[in-house]
Amino acid sequence: MKYYSLNQEAPKVSFKDAVIKGIAPDKGLYFPESITPLPDSFFSSIEDLSNQEIAFNAIHQFVSEEISNEKLRAILKNMLDFDFPVVAIEENIATLELFHGPTMAFKDVGARFMAQCLGHFSEGETTEVTVLVATSGDTGGAVANGFLGVKGVNVVILYPSGKVSDIQERQLTTLGQNITALEVDGTFDDCQKMVKTAFLDPTLLANLQLTSANSINVARWLPQLFYFLFAYKQAKSQGKEIVFSVPSGNFGNICAGIVAQKLGMPAKHFVAATNVNDTVPQFMKTGKYTPKPSTATISNAMDVGDPSNFIRIRHLFQDNFQKLSEHLSSFTFSDDETKQAMKAIYNTSNYIADPHGAVGYLGLKKYQENNPDVYGIFLETAHPVKFLDVVEETIPEKLAIPAQIKKVMNKEKKSIKIATYEGLKDFLMGNAGAKK
Ligand SMILES: *Cc1c(COP(=O)(O)O)cnc(C)c1O
Repeated sequence: MKYYSLNQEAPKVSFKDAVIKGIAPDKGLYFPESITPLPDSFFSSIEDLSNQEIAFNAIHQFVSEEISNEKLRAILKNMLDFDFPVVAIEENIATLELFHGPTMAFKDVGARFMAQCLGHFSEGETTEVTVLVATSGDTGGAVANGFLGVKGVNVVILYPSGKVSDIQERQLTTLGQNITALEVDGTFDDCQKMVKTAFLDPTLLANLQLTSANSINVARWLPQLFYFLFAYKQAKSQGKEIVFSVPSGNFGNICAGIVAQKLGMPAKHFVAATNVNDTVPQFMKTGKYTPKPSTATISNAMDVGDPSNFIRIRHLFQDNFQKLSEHLSSFTFSDDETKQAMKAIYNTSNYIADPHGAVGYLGLKKYQENNPDVYGIFLETAHPVKFLDVVEETIPEKLAIPAQIKKVMNKEKKSIKIATYEGLKDFLMGNAGAKK
């Protein structure tokens, strides 16, 4: 499988090069040259397949020229060692829990897959790869955990000082080894700007093999399609049309869901639920795409004003607004509405949703106002304990701290403080120099 740049001004590359480069030289996102539907028999007997077999069948066409079947099976076995349960909430509403991985947010699967692919591609190479990533919270921990101890790969995580939760900070600053946390005196937007500047800096590019571990990277983005297949496997017996509501920030997860649909998965519709960062809901209303600076909310992993992956979604529908509207709805919700939803879910179903999942629930409810008879699944993208303050403030219950989280609570934080792009560059060049 070759990958082309959505800007159409860069050469096609292999999966390996798409992963190592992260983004094309013309600044476009990479996209697979074809998406071949899986046979009908795959979907009709999906309940007989293990999650690993489902994942193997789904991802095979995208990677098979670069990764042997044996290696791919080994990667998937390592990566999918936890559950993805669909839990009933109300009549015709269930949630797909994606938080049973090591860092308790859904980014574990993508981060693990990318880490293992890069580790595989680095075998026998003399140049080390440096993964540079900006995080507003969950990406950092998932990437740190996924890449820990992977040979030939150094990871540098930028996070905004004082703007991630205590648990999130510990998850990305306490691991050591090949993981370095840079604590930026600034906002998430500042972190992201520094990373973008680094990718364009000729001095750095001449000295380092830099790549990104955000969902623009195909190895982070594509494996997320597994979730939707795992959910379909569990919800199929309901015998109803299925609708997915995905709490969205950078729109990587929902875009992967639409790829699963292109692979032939029967799904009636997708709902992209956002917080007040409503660039996409506005676009679905007006047909005009107007990015804007992000606003801070209680669902902070979705505070994105210019979602990188939305361009991939438009491309999946040939940039045809009519076709896109037939498959996708998008709604925006305030923090107040989100808290009300957390309370309502708790009171009626005795279920504790995190703020991101609650936004997904609201999106589904809104869609079901006009489509009452579909089976709706909203994605619970993080464990509520990751947003302890908001959850305990909203719901009359104390959350138990799971083992994965306890493990990092007592570890010592190590970070390097930087304030400007020069600080980042000095750090990276110091590393480059040390390696020569
Ligand atoms: C990253 C994240 C999201 C948003 O996912 P996208 O793929 O960026 O749309 C939603 N919820 C949680 C908890 C996240 O960490």
